Amino acid sequence: MSGYTLRGTAVTPFELVSHGQVEIAGGRVLYVGPRKHPYGEVFDHGDDLICPGLVDVHVHGGAGYDAMDEDPETMDGISRYLAAGGVTGFLATTQTAPRRELLESVKRIAEAAESGLGGARLLGLHLEGPYLSEERRGAQHVDAIRTPDTEELGALHAAAGGLLRMVTLAPEVPGALEAISWLADQGVVASAGHTDADYDTALAAFGHGLSHVSHLYNGMRGLHHREPGILGAALTDGRVSVELIADGHHVHSAALRLAALCKGPAKTVLVSDSIKPAGLPDGEYTYRGRRMVLRDGLVRLHDGVIAGSSIRLNDAVRVMVEEAGFSVSEAVQMASHSPARVLRLTPGKGKLAEGSDADVTIMDWGFNVKETIVGGDTVYRSDT
Ligand SMILES: [Zn+2]
Repeated sequence: MSGYTLRGTAVTPFELVSHGQVEIAGGRVLYVGPRKHPYGEVFDHGDDLICPGLVDVHVHGGAGYDAMDEDPETMDGISRYLAAGGVTGFLATTQTAPRRELLESVKRIAEAAESGLGGARLLGLHLEGPYLSEERRGAQHVDAIRTPDTEELGALHAAAGGLLRMVTLAPEVPGALEAISWLADQGVVASAGHTDADYDTALAAFGHGLSHVSHLYNGMRGLHHREPGILGAALTDGRVSVELIADGHHVHSAALRLAALCKGPAKTVLVSDSIKPAGLPDGEYTYRGRRMVLRDGLVRLHDGVIAGSSIRLNDAVRVMVEEAGFSVSEAVQMASHSPARVLRLTPGKGKLAEGSDADVTIMDWGFNVKETIVGGDTVYRSDT
């Protein structure tokens, strides 16, 4: 498509430009600022929010698809499902599994990245496990949890063909600090999650290059005033960014506010942690051999353990604004620029500025997605 102009409220995301204009050509942003003589065809979105595309670094699946499924339609299905939630880029996230199964999943996902997907762009892989705390495993398969092994990590890294971007592990398990150093050396983000780490262990992990914490609060010990644990370490140490599942269920709005105030929008990363039944009607589903119940936006195992969310990032932005009290600019930053920065994809992604990638999400002021644009091309448009 040749060049065109979007009109609406431009969210850079660091500032809001009312009566703004965003010009796009050749898959890039040419201009962001106040309205002026337009370039090419004009699409007027009233006062809707024209934002940088949302980036989700923690997605297992949705719309009946799981990133580890063998079905060749899987990644395209997830990609289109996410685009309808304003997501323009994502990390396909695996779960704890035996070595062979994990390797095969990683290979399949890396292959899928090469075939064009119809919605959000697959930016890489996030391995959640298998090097986790048994005690804090949440819905992860306990049988396949094991201690870190850099030989296995090397095999997974090779299978991913350069697409391995993040690994969630528990820093307190034997061998974890070596694994963290190894990952940091490869340029892969080492993230703490499903961990029982205490404060001192957390600091040791940060010193070895751990730079991110997966779904802060969930799958870790709580904050105690004499032993603040990894939670207290993450909230107070400027070296790490933190993920929040802002779905209105996983974390109380006051806890969301506390974390994002401590970290600031730049180090707060909204994630969906969405799983296979997300986006489907309430009911019972089978997910990796286990029965799950989706009800009122929450997916649980039969024993009541929360297994993941059913939101997309536009919903997380809504929760951060309407329930946790942040501005539109701050909340959009947490879902676009902050995750893009964690993945070292800035300045190209995460921001609307001259020369940035034309990944754009257009939402109304209720954060309903109207249109999603990836590389200058519309991949989703709502009927309403
Ligand atoms: Zn998890």
